[in-house]
Amino acid sequence: MLLSAYFFIMALVLGSFFNVVAIRLLKKQSVAFPPSNCPNCNHKLSALDLVPVLSYLFLKGKCRYCRVKISPLYPFGELLTASSLFVVYKFVGFELELIPAVIITIVLVLAVLTDIREQLILDIITLPALGILLIARLFIGTEPFWFYLLGGIVGFVLLLLIAIVSRGGMGGGDIKLYAAIGVALGPWLTLMSLVLASFVGAVVGSILMVTGLVKRKQPIAFGPFILIGTIGAYLFGYEIWDWYIGLW
Ligand SMILES: [Zn+2]
Repeated sequence: MLLSAYFFIMALVLGSFFNVVAIRLLKKQSVAFPPSNCPNCNHKLSALDLVPVLSYLFLKGKCRYCRVKISPLYPFGELLTASSLFVVYKFVGFELELIPAVIITIVLVLAVLTDIREQLILDIITLPALGILLIARLFIGTEPFWFYLLGGIVGFVLLLLIAIVSRGGMGGGDIKLYAAIGVALGPWLTLMSLVLASFVGAVVGSILMVTGLVKRKQPIAFGPFILIGTIGAYLFGYEIWDWYIGLW
């Protein structure tokens, strides 16, 4: 219990760092310098302004110094990071497999944070992670290395085909992201990740359109659905498959 709480709080802090990483990499700025300041009044933020989620709540979503509204994407990014990592940690457990699991989860969270801001999934995050995952899969996994390598190829080729058919509906960032997902999950669960992501995306997209929250033809970032589909497939893929087969 105490360990879980500690893990969750650490993940919240990590999420707060990932917000900064996403924003600064999108602006092609250094991640390490300068220290955080308000984007409106440039006032340097103190430790009290940077407590994940709580600072946002206590400051009622406004900068302490100039009262300008703070984007709700900050607490969203913190909670997304913490809940994603927490779920993965709870279901994978303290095993070697947690290494590739955490790497792909971090890549997915960062992809969501850049995708919802600028409709971009950045190579500078995805490609190094792809390399690290390939190395990790040489040593970690229940299947031989070629299985995960095949997963990467399946993810890459599949998304490339979708990109060609949909003529720009998928970007290059999604294609490389799916290569990384493939190396982490192997071919079967990668396919399921895509099916789940498309299904959840279609359901949520219809709801958003019916309720008028987004306009028809307005692009919706696909990153959040890739995250849900991939973590869902990774943790519960074989159970979902058994359940689906049992329906027939
Ligand atoms: Zn300010």
